[in-house]
Amino acid sequence: MCRPYRRLVDRLRAQALPCWICGHNINYKPYGRRHPLAFTLDDETPLSKGGDLLDPATPVAHTDAATASGGRCR
Ligand SMILES: [Zn+2]
Repeated sequence: MCRPYRRLVDRLRAQALPCWICGHNINYKPYGRRHPLAFTLDDETPLSKGGDLLDPATPVAHTDAATASGGRCR
């Protein structure tokens, strides 16, 4: 995990934004763990296609939503 990424994560955590997919609060506490209600950056554009994960507008979502269930929270 590179440093700019870490900075962005810290800033988003400080804002405590809700999940942009389901609108529910995100559990920001289990930092660094795989937790279904933890948060992740949900980058719309894959890095391989020129997406910028460090874009300040990158939405936050539940880890579940962004990974396992195809863009929907459980
Ligand atoms: Zn969600």
